[in-house]
Amino acid sequence: MLEELTATCEGCDADLDEAAFGLAMDLGDGERRLYECECGTVTVTVVRES
Ligand SMILES: [Zn+2]
Repeated sequence: MLEELTATCEGCDADLDEAAFGLAMDLGDGERRLYECECGTVTVTVVRES
């Protein structure tokens, strides 16, 4: 089953897409993806691999 990968800004509730995508980090237990919204809020999502 695929996870929903769309992210929402924690500051203004805007949809974050590839235009806002900033950085990905794999820390071993899942990939963190950093999105920077136009409002300046940085939202981090975690993508876990089973
Ligand atoms: Zn925002």
